[in-house]
Amino acid sequence: MNIKGLFLEELQEFFHTMGLPKYRAAQIYTWIYQKQACTWEEMTDLPKDLRGRLTEQGLALGSLTPVNRIEDSDGTIKFLFELEDHNTIESVFIPEDERLTSCISTQVGCGMQCSFCATGQNGLIRNLTAAEIIDQLLTISRQTKSRINNVVIMGQGEPLANYEATLNAIKLMNDPKGMGIGARHITISTCGVIPGILKLAKEPLQVNLAISLHAADDGLRTRLMPINKVYPLSELMTAIRNYIELTGRRVTFEYTMIDGINDRPQDLGQLIQLLSGLLCHVNLIPLNPVKGSAFGRSKMERIHDFISALTRVHIEATIRKERGTNLAAACGQLQGGNWSKNDLAK
Ligand code: SAH
Repeated sequence: MNIKGLFLEELQEFFHTMGLPKYRAAQIYTWIYQKQACTWEEMTDLPKDLRGRLTEQGLALGSLTPVNRIEDSDGTIKFLFELEDHNTIESVFIPEDERLTSCISTQVGCGMQCSFCATGQNGLIRNLTAAEIIDQLLTISRQTKSRINNVVIMGQGEPLANYEATLNAIKLMNDPKGMGIGARHITISTCGVIPGILKLAKEPLQVNLAISLHAADDGLRTRLMPINKVYPLSELMTAIRNYIELTGRRVTFEYTMIDGINDRPQDLGQLIQLLSGLLCHVNLIPLNPVKGSAFGRSKMERIHDFISALTRVHIEATIRKERGTNLAAACGQLQGGNWSKNDLAK
């Protein structure tokens, strides 16, 4: 039984069955989500005998163990976490002034097989639970002694292919009685799983949606992202329009710039045509190197050409700031498990 990952009401119910009053559950909830406790002993405002009882019962306060971390000179840290079934996942801590971002994973591996991304190379192993998703944030907070205030669900896996656990984890991180991370500071990135986008549009949550587009032509997009066969561009764009209409929120399009593949003048023309008039923002990502891939990064002039042309037609566009490339911790580079473990579990 794992206590982390339960909502306050669930905790109250659970402890009620043990004969504990409601306020105990509230205390424990605060210890877990605000003070990142990972042992019962730390919860010093619980009576000592209760702490002993909870420890003896073997009620777990965590679903992952940090087994390795590497840090870049700019403060970016890549973590390797081991799950209870010994699978491993990676998450990244990206501090930038006041903004303390965590990039978290939603699956072990990924089933989407995008041709330029390392994560899918070994296929999907399994979905993460809500507890494993939220625990990445709690463990990073504890390890870095910082209060995370921005979350990008852009690590390993496709969040909308693990909808329920991802949404539960979002509700937990958003809860003001817990971590209190504002919905506007939470971004879900998807390769374009339409049913998930439509469902998300109806959630009473103001999270940001990012769509991994990477090509504005069906033939090329299918080549880069096989999911496009299932959810082709015209249907995807209809779903996105629907999302914007229902939520009134701006959507971000991620476009990884690959030399000679999707950065040609005709690609730019098609991109402009596809996005014109839409409430959106384009985030251009210079391709990050992935082992075994023949793709190369676009030249910087091409990326700037894209920015100027998009801006000229009033489509807001920016280049994603590079963080974590030195650690193989940047977009598309998280693979999980192929680095040695060095026990730093505390
Ligand atoms: N499955 C989700 C979450 C991954 S987010 C999604 O597809 O959106 C990671 C982002 O990095 C996605 O936009 C992804 O397409 C992009 N990406 C993948 N491989 C990359 C690479 N090698 N270089 C740059 N960006 C990459």
